[in-house]
Amino acid sequence: MTRVTWVIAVANQKGGVGKTTSVINLAAALAIRHGLRVLAVDMDPQGHLALSFGIEASDPSETVTAALLGAKSISQISKETGIPGLHVAPSNESLAAAEDRIARQPGREAVLATIIEPELGRYDLVLIDTPPSLGVLTFNALYAATHLLVPIQPRLYSIDGLRRLYQIVNLMRKRLSRRIEILGHFLTMVDNRYRITREVRSDLRSKLGDGLLNTEIPLSVKAEEGHFHRIPLILYAPESEPAKAYQALTEEILARLRSEAVSKEQLQGGVGLAGGE
Ligand code: ADP
Ligand code: MG
Repeated sequence: MTRVTWVIAVANQKGGVGKTTSVINLAAALAIRHGLRVLAVDMDPQGHLALSFGIEASDPSETVTAALLGAKSISQISKETGIPGLHVAPSNESLAAAEDRIARQPGREAVLATIIEPELGRYDLVLIDTPPSLGVLTFNALYAATHLLVPIQPRLYSIDGLRRLYQIVNLMRKRLSRRIEILGHFLTMVDNRYRITREVRSDLRSKLGDGLLNTEIPLSVKAEEGHFHRIPLILYAPESEPAKAYQALTEEILARLRSEAVSKEQLQGGVGLAGGE
């Protein structure tokens, strides 16, 4: 099979829906349980991603900022996490200033894609955490991505803002010729005691069909404890409900990616046969 690195942007312009928590735990599960080589890239100036692996990056020259501005390569700023196979490209608040500079450049949406490209052969999968906005940083994440993954907290109006996200995905495809697929949506911080949870779930199921993944991440204080102790939840409390859910989500996502790769391969094989030689 042709080796392609999957580049997954985790995005939803709402803040506090579980993007960062999901990137941390998916990245950890992919590396620990599936032995994959994973790079987690933080495109959020809040810079929480690396912190949750116990990594401090206070100097901008050690962060994604330096890579986006062309001073360093991604491999120069990527840090080991203590989890074999998993590296993190950290960010901090300096990324907000970098965003302003990039926004004034021609080809501004392609900066991340360009600097990630030389690293792809070293990883099986790249996960990109995004800020709670649809500005140039999220644009860069989507432009660099082969897939989009959307965490949704089941609350009133929780999918209202998604239309704008899809518009950007369509723009990427049609005007910029990018091949980004929507890998899926999944519910986070699910509390089944609330009726709104059931209502949002059934609304999403009817609107998205199998675009809504089956795995849901339950609401649990354990998720916060993982961040507090600066260890991914799936290591800190592997038997906790959210940790088990993140492992199930990892499997569901990998199954999707692999079946998509197989069908693409068959399609290419099919075309070859139809060509006759
Ligand atoms: P985002 O990156 O979308 O802003 P975060 O992943 O930072 O969201 O999550 C927002 C807050 O919710 C954080 O304090 C995080 O610890 C907490 N959180 C995330 N997932 C869960 C969960 N399953 N249960 C309870 N709290 C959670
Ligand atoms: Mg976040």
